[in-house]
Amino acid sequence: MQDETEDAIAELHAMLDRADSIVSFTGAGISTESGVPDFRSAGSPWMVNKPIPFDAFVASREARIEAWRRKFAMDDHYRGAQPNIGHRALARLVAEGRSPAIVTQNIDGLHQASGVPEDRIVELHGNGTYATCLNCGWRHELAAIRHAFEETGEPPACLICAGPVKSATISFGQAMPQAAMMRAQELALECDLFLVVGSSLVVFPAATLPVIAKRQGARLVILNREPTELDPIADLVIRAESGRALAPLLS
Ligand SMILES: [Zn+2]
Repeated sequence: MQDETEDAIAELHAMLDRADSIVSFTGAGISTESGVPDFRSAGSPWMVNKPIPFDAFVASREARIEAWRRKFAMDDHYRGAQPNIGHRALARLVAEGRSPAIVTQNIDGLHQASGVPEDRIVELHGNGTYATCLNCGWRHELAAIRHAFEETGEPPACLICAGPVKSATISFGQAMPQAAMMRAQELALECDLFLVVGSSLVVFPAATLPVIAKRQGARLVILNREPTELDPIADLVIRAESGRALAPLLS
Protein backbone atom coordinates (compact mmCIF):
# COMPACT_ATOMS: atom_id res chain seq x y z
CA MET A 1 0.00 0.00 0.00
CA GLN A 2 2.85 2.33 0.88
CA ASP A 3 4.51 1.69 -2.49
CA GLU A 4 1.20 2.09 -4.29
CA THR A 5 0.75 5.55 -2.79
CA GLU A 6 4.33 6.51 -3.67
CA ASP A 7 3.74 5.35 -7.25
CA ALA A 8 0.52 7.38 -7.45
CA ILE A 9 2.31 10.49 -6.16
CA ALA A 10 5.07 10.03 -8.75
CA GLU A 11 2.42 9.67 -11.47
CA LEU A 12 0.71 12.86 -10.23
CA HIS A 13 3.92 14.84 -10.65
CA ALA A 14 4.53 13.40 -14.10
CA MET A 15 1.02 14.52 -15.06
CA LEU A 16 1.55 17.98 -13.54
CA ASP A 17 4.78 18.33 -15.54
CA ARG A 18 2.96 17.54 -18.79
CA ALA A 19 0.01 19.87 -18.12
CA ASP A 20 -0.24 23.42 -19.51
CA SER A 21 -3.25 24.63 -17.54
CA ILE A 22 -3.89 23.16 -14.11
CA VAL A 23 -7.03 24.05 -12.20
CA SER A 24 -6.97 23.04 -8.54
CA PHE A 25 -10.22 22.46 -6.73
CA THR A 26 -9.88 22.40 -2.95
CA GLY A 27 -12.09 21.34 -0.07
CA ALA A 28 -11.86 21.02 3.69
CA GLY A 29 -9.27 18.23 3.48
CA ILE A 30 -6.49 20.61 2.43
CA SER A 31 -7.05 22.80 5.49
CA THR A 32 -7.41 20.09 8.16
CA GLU A 33 -3.61 19.85 7.94
CA SER A 34 -3.57 23.49 9.11
CA GLY A 35 -5.77 22.63 12.08
CA VAL A 36 -8.98 24.00 10.56
CA PRO A 37 -11.77 21.54 11.43
CA ASP A 38 -13.80 20.00 8.61
CA PHE A 39 -17.16 21.52 9.45
CA ARG A 40 -19.11 18.64 7.91
CA SER A 41 -17.36 15.96 9.91
CA ALA A 42 -19.09 14.41 12.90
CA GLY A 43 -18.29 16.10 16.21
CA SER A 44 -17.01 19.32 14.65
CA PRO A 45 -18.08 22.50 16.45
CA TRP A 46 -20.15 23.38 13.37
CA MET A 47 -22.29 20.28 13.71
CA VAL A 48 -22.99 20.53 17.44
CA ASN A 49 -25.59 23.17 16.59
CA LYS A 50 -27.79 22.96 13.54
CA PRO A 51 -26.69 25.60 11.00
CA ILE A 52 -28.82 28.74 10.94
CA PRO A 53 -30.51 28.97 7.54
CA PHE A 54 -30.24 32.18 5.55
CA ASP A 55 -33.97 32.99 5.78
CA ALA A 56 -33.89 32.81 9.56
CA PHE A 57 -30.83 35.04 9.69
CA VAL A 58 -32.60 37.71 7.63
CA ALA A 59 -35.92 37.41 9.47
CA SER A 60 -34.88 37.19 13.10
CA ARG A 61 -32.80 39.39 15.37
CA GLU A 62 -32.34 36.43 17.75
CA ALA A 63 -31.05 34.26 14.89
CA ARG A 64 -28.54 36.95 13.91
CA ILE A 65 -27.30 37.21 17.48
CA GLU A 66 -26.95 33.44 17.72
CA ALA A 67 -25.21 33.26 14.31
CA TRP A 68 -22.65 35.86 15.34
CA ARG A 69 -22.10 34.26 18.75
CA ARG A 70 -21.30 30.95 17.03
CA LYS A 71 -19.21 32.62 14.34
CA PHE A 72 -16.89 34.22 16.87
CA ALA A 73 -16.71 30.99 18.92
CA MET A 74 -15.72 29.12 15.73
CA ASP A 75 -13.12 31.70 14.80
CA ASP A 76 -11.47 31.07 18.16
CA HIS A 77 -11.14 27.41 17.16
CA TYR A 78 -8.88 28.13 14.23
CA ARG A 79 -7.38 31.47 15.08
CA GLY A 80 -3.81 31.52 13.88
CA ALA A 81 -4.22 28.72 11.32
CA GLN A 82 -1.45 29.02 8.73
CA PRO A 83 -1.23 27.74 5.16
CA ASN A 84 0.37 24.28 5.00
CA ILE A 85 2.49 22.53 2.39
CA GLY A 86 -0.57 21.78 0.26
CA HIS A 87 -1.61 25.44 0.08
CA ARG A 88 1.95 26.54 -0.65
CA ALA A 89 2.41 23.93 -3.38
CA LEU A 90 -0.77 25.07 -5.18
CA ALA A 91 0.32 28.70 -4.74
CA ARG A 92 3.57 27.78 -6.48
CA LEU A 93 1.65 26.46 -9.51
CA VAL A 94 -0.19 29.79 -9.79
CA ALA A 95 2.97 31.84 -9.30
CA GLU A 96 4.77 29.88 -12.02
CA GLY A 97 1.96 30.54 -14.49
CA ARG A 98 1.02 26.87 -14.67
CA SER A 99 -2.38 27.36 -13.05
CA PRO A 100 -4.82 30.16 -13.93
CA ALA A 101 -6.73 29.92 -10.65
CA ILE A 102 -7.71 27.86 -7.62
CA VAL A 103 -11.38 27.04 -7.09
CA THR A 104 -12.22 26.42 -3.44
CA GLN A 105 -15.07 25.35 -1.22
CA ASN A 106 -13.16 26.65 1.80
CA ILE A 107 -13.97 29.87 3.62
CA ASP A 108 -10.78 30.07 5.68
CA GLY A 109 -8.78 32.46 3.50
CA LEU A 110 -5.70 30.18 3.59
CA HIS A 111 -5.15 30.31 -0.19
CA GLN A 112 -4.88 34.10 0.10
CA ALA A 113 -2.58 33.66 3.10
CA SER A 114 -0.33 31.37 1.02
CA GLY A 115 0.29 34.25 -1.38
CA VAL A 116 -2.19 33.56 -4.18
CA PRO A 117 -3.57 36.87 -5.53
CA GLU A 118 -7.24 37.47 -4.72
CA ASP A 119 -8.19 37.46 -8.41
CA ARG A 120 -6.74 33.94 -8.81
CA ILE A 121 -9.02 32.44 -6.16
CA VAL A 122 -12.62 31.48 -6.89
CA GLU A 123 -14.56 31.05 -3.66
CA LEU A 124 -17.72 29.01 -4.11
CA HIS A 125 -18.85 29.25 -0.49
CA GLY A 126 -17.69 32.77 0.23
CA ASN A 127 -15.13 33.88 2.79
CA GLY A 128 -15.34 33.78 6.58
CA THR A 129 -12.55 36.25 7.24
CA TYR A 130 -14.73 39.33 6.71
CA ALA A 131 -18.41 40.32 6.61
CA THR A 132 -20.68 42.14 4.19
CA CYS A 133 -23.93 44.10 4.42
CA LEU A 134 -26.80 42.10 2.94
CA ASN A 135 -28.41 45.31 1.65
CA CYS A 136 -25.64 47.37 0.10
CA GLY A 137 -22.72 44.90 -0.03
CA TRP A 138 -20.35 47.10 1.98
CA ARG A 139 -17.43 45.14 3.42
CA HIS A 140 -17.05 45.12 7.22
CA GLU A 141 -14.01 43.86 9.13
CA LEU A 142 -14.58 41.25 11.82
CA ALA A 143 -12.51 42.85 14.57
CA ALA A 144 -14.66 45.98 14.66
CA ILE A 145 -17.88 43.98 14.44
CA ARG A 146 -16.81 41.70 17.25
CA HIS A 147 -15.86 44.58 19.50
CA ALA A 148 -19.27 46.23 19.04
CA PHE A 149 -21.13 42.93 19.40
CA GLU A 150 -19.39 42.11 22.66
CA GLU A 151 -20.07 45.60 23.99
CA THR A 152 -23.76 45.81 23.08
CA GLY A 153 -24.99 42.25 22.45
CA GLU A 154 -26.82 43.64 19.40
CA PRO A 155 -26.48 41.99 15.97
CA PRO A 156 -24.14 44.02 13.73
CA ALA A 157 -25.79 46.58 11.45
CA CYS A 158 -24.26 48.35 8.44
CA LEU A 159 -22.63 51.71 9.11
CA ILE A 160 -23.70 52.89 5.66
CA CYS A 161 -27.31 51.75 5.37
CA ALA A 162 -28.14 50.05 8.72
CA GLY A 163 -28.84 46.76 6.88
CA PRO A 164 -28.03 43.38 8.44
CA VAL A 165 -24.35 42.43 8.32
CA LYS A 166 -23.41 38.79 7.78
CA SER A 167 -20.20 36.82 7.55
CA ALA A 168 -19.28 36.76 3.83
CA THR A 169 -19.88 33.01 3.64
CA ILE A 170 -22.70 31.30 1.78
CA SER A 171 -25.22 29.98 4.33
CA PHE A 172 -27.55 27.05 3.98
CA GLY A 173 -30.46 28.27 1.87
CA GLN A 174 -28.51 31.24 0.44
CA ALA A 175 -28.04 31.54 -3.32
CA MET A 176 -24.66 30.43 -4.68
CA PRO A 177 -22.47 33.32 -5.87
CA GLN A 178 -23.27 33.60 -9.59
CA ALA A 179 -20.00 35.11 -10.79
CA ALA A 180 -17.88 32.58 -8.89
CA MET A 181 -19.95 29.69 -10.23
CA MET A 182 -19.59 30.89 -13.82
CA ARG A 183 -15.87 31.41 -13.48
CA ALA A 184 -15.43 27.95 -11.96
CA GLN A 185 -17.26 26.42 -14.91
CA GLU A 186 -15.12 28.34 -17.40
CA LEU A 187 -11.98 27.16 -15.64
CA ALA A 188 -13.21 23.56 -15.75
CA LEU A 189 -13.90 23.96 -19.48
CA GLU A 190 -10.49 25.40 -20.31
CA CYS A 191 -8.02 23.42 -18.18
CA ASP A 192 -6.11 20.35 -19.30
CA LEU A 193 -5.69 19.00 -15.77
CA PHE A 194 -8.32 19.26 -13.06
CA LEU A 195 -6.80 18.53 -9.66
CA VAL A 196 -9.15 17.83 -6.76
CA VAL A 197 -7.49 18.27 -3.36
CA GLY A 198 -9.26 17.34 -0.14
CA SER A 199 -12.85 17.40 -1.31
CA SER A 200 -15.27 14.52 -1.02
CA LEU A 201 -17.11 16.00 -4.04
CA VAL A 202 -20.60 15.52 -2.67
CA VAL A 203 -21.91 19.09 -2.52
CA PHE A 204 -23.10 20.87 -5.67
CA PRO A 205 -21.26 22.23 -7.65
CA ALA A 206 -18.27 20.24 -6.43
CA ALA A 207 -19.76 17.10 -7.90
CA THR A 208 -20.22 18.57 -11.38
CA LEU A 209 -17.06 20.60 -12.03
CA PRO A 210 -14.76 17.55 -12.32
CA VAL A 211 -17.27 15.97 -14.71
CA ILE A 212 -17.30 19.12 -16.87
CA ALA A 213 -13.50 19.08 -17.00
CA LYS A 214 -13.33 15.37 -17.79
CA ARG A 215 -15.95 15.64 -20.58
CA GLN A 216 -14.05 18.37 -22.40
CA GLY A 217 -10.93 16.21 -22.41
CA ALA A 218 -8.99 17.34 -19.33
CA ARG A 219 -7.32 14.77 -17.15
CA LEU A 220 -8.85 14.37 -13.71
CA VAL A 221 -6.84 13.69 -10.55
CA ILE A 222 -8.52 13.16 -7.18
CA LEU A 223 -6.33 13.54 -4.12
CA ASN A 224 -8.41 12.82 -1.04
CA ARG A 225 -8.06 10.67 2.05
CA GLU A 226 -11.43 8.99 1.51
CA PRO A 227 -13.00 7.52 -1.63
CA THR A 228 -15.27 9.83 -3.65
CA GLU A 229 -18.15 9.10 -6.00
CA LEU A 230 -16.11 10.40 -8.91
CA ASP A 231 -13.12 8.10 -8.35
CA PRO A 232 -14.33 5.78 -11.15
CA ILE A 233 -13.99 8.52 -13.81
CA ALA A 234 -10.66 9.89 -12.53
CA ASP A 235 -7.44 9.29 -14.45
CA LEU A 236 -5.62 9.04 -11.14
CA VAL A 237 -6.80 8.63 -7.54
CA ILE A 238 -4.43 9.26 -4.64
CA ARG A 239 -5.40 8.41 -1.06
CA ALA A 240 -2.94 10.46 0.90
CA GLU A 241 -2.53 13.63 2.92
CA SER A 242 -2.45 16.56 0.52
CA GLY A 243 0.74 17.96 2.03
CA ARG A 244 2.60 14.71 1.49
CA ALA A 245 1.40 14.30 -2.10
CA LEU A 246 2.05 17.91 -3.14
CA ALA A 247 5.34 18.51 -1.28
CA PRO A 248 7.53 17.68 -4.33
CA LEU A 249 6.23 20.87 -5.99
CA LEU A 250 8.12 22.86 -3.37
CA SER A 251 11.46 21.09 -3.73
ZN1 LIG B 1 -25.25 48.46 4.00
